[in-house]
Amino acid sequence: MGASNNKTPAIVILGKGALTTARRIQQLYPDALVHGLAERVEGADRTYSEFGATLRQLYQQDTPIIALCAAGIVIRTLAPLLLEKGAEPPVLAVAEDGSAVVPLLGGLGGVNVMAREIAAGLNTAAAITTSGELRFGTCLLNPPSGYALGDLELGKRFVSDLLSGESVRIEGAAPWLAQAQLPEDDHAQLAIHVGYAEREPCANELLIYPRNVLVAIEATVPDPAEAVRGALHESRIAVQALACLLASETDMADPALHAAADSLGVPLRFTAQASAADMARQALPQLLPPLSPVHGIAIAVATEPLDIERIGRGRGRLAVIGLGPGAAEFMIPAVKAELARANDVLGYETYVRMAGPFRADQVLHCTDNREEMQRARHAFELAAQGRSVVVVSSGDPGVFAMASAVLEALHESDDAQWHAVDLEILPGVSASLATAAQAGAPLGHDFCVMSLSDNLKPWEIIEKRLDLACQADLALAFYNPISRSRPWQLGRALEIVRLHRVPETPVTLGRDIGRPGQTLRVITLGELTPEQVDMRTMVLVGSSTTCVFPRANGDQWVYTPRWYGEKPVK
Ligand code: SAH
Repeated sequence: MGASNNKTPAIVILGKGALTTARRIQQLYPDALVHGLAERVEGADRTYSEFGATLRQLYQQDTPIIALCAAGIVIRTLAPLLLEKGAEPPVLAVAEDGSAVVPLLGGLGGVNVMAREIAAGLNTAAAITTSGELRFGTCLLNPPSGYALGDLELGKRFVSDLLSGESVRIEGAAPWLAQAQLPEDDHAQLAIHVGYAEREPCANELLIYPRNVLVAIEATVPDPAEAVRGALHESRIAVQALACLLASETDMADPALHAAADSLGVPLRFTAQASAADMARQALPQLLPPLSPVHGIAIAVATEPLDIERIGRGRGRLAVIGLGPGAAEFMIPAVKAELARANDVLGYETYVRMAGPFRADQVLHCTDNREEMQRARHAFELAAQGRSVVVVSSGDPGVFAMASAVLEALHESDDAQWHAVDLEILPGVSASLATAAQAGAPLGHDFCVMSLSDNLKPWEIIEKRLDLACQADLALAFYNPISRSRPWQLGRALEIVRLHRVPETPVTLGRDIGRPGQTLRVITLGELTPEQVDMRTMVLVGSSTTCVFPRANGDQWVYTPRWYGEKPVK
């Protein structure tokens, strides 16, 4: 019986004394990585520098946490997150020497199951404190995957009745309950009823539904979610027993079908057949002819809960994400979630490393910085197989980065499978904005963003745009200002800027902003030379109104006022 949160856990250790125990636990969860505190632990699979931020990030990503440290440390660290609604993955504290296993959070996510597994692996006892668990050996409110509890609140009342000493009958097949030491009695008032049929819960009854029902649906069915509910009702099948919707591959991108699956809370799978009856027959061939109470819908019921992964295939997903400048706290939560669900991660090696840590089951495809189109096509090939693929950019993916390359690859392709991929671009904090924020507000008014790289555009265009942007008195943000293969371009660009701007114009240089060893310097256009700049630098040149003033810490604030020309009286 597996945990109902089926994600791979993270094993987090603070000191090297915990490594041996961590490795023993890892044998139980071979895909799990051991995360060790940098400088204190050598030989972990991944290192982290901040315990609190790391633990909270794992928690928010719904990753089960096995922390080899004092329970109190874990509690204090996660406490701020506990009032928020959202994921509650299993969280366990394990003594460094493996002598104690304490499940802390995630009762409905299977933490007690994990605690028992780990305790068995470490030859110790789990400190189970959940009352229902203690008495019955399993949590009735947490049926294994493939089964759904009818109603949690009714369930809680049912368990407290059981705890007060009542006995219970079991109706239907509930193989996992056989191991639970329930006070069974064929004449008991309380009953656990397991079945897929629609049923009004009567008092004293705990309803558990096996998810063994599949509904195949054609995209022509109007209001599909309601149609599915109606069809199930007509066949007297409980909607809670629905395991998945199945549709035709040609309708993979149909928004109404996706909305219906969301509203029903089930996955949407795809198959090559076109008619609902054929789809259902193909998915569950051992069955008698499927029920077709409504045109365009076919219902098939299996004898066991369905293994969704084996029904047709899923729609592939491709997300082009922006990591932000570097520091994890500047990465948007949607990007963190996307990284957590990825099967494959593609990108320039430096950025893929920045996006980590990854689990052992995630495949990394690191390539050179120049191979953007090839990388984009590879991403579609993987996603078209039904995988969840992430293409990584630093900063924002739409700013001189992978989003355009990915869209270009799709535009050039007439492969229907590529076009059916669930493609999403997730934004990030671009280097110009991250640098500007640290300096104050140098881009606080109209500004112009340019790449000084002439790899993919003629140098004349760059000169022309630069000249016009300067004429328009826009503040300037230069990406890709210089590199070993482009040594003279920045000098030439500055010559053009100097034709329009006075030497006192403030210039902000941000290098490795948001990364270890970052530097920020505020100088003037007169002082700026190409030697002060490299390919990891962002160059922000002020407009005629940009100004500076001293900051209490000895540095300078830079800003471009919101007004233009004369300062308004107000
Ligand atoms: N998509 C990225 C930009 C890629 S172009 C973004 O939105 O930020 C690469 C250029 O961005 C570099 O040559 C440098 O000029 C700038 N850059 C990227 N990350 C940076 C950082 N952390 N600090 C300063 N400049 C950075």
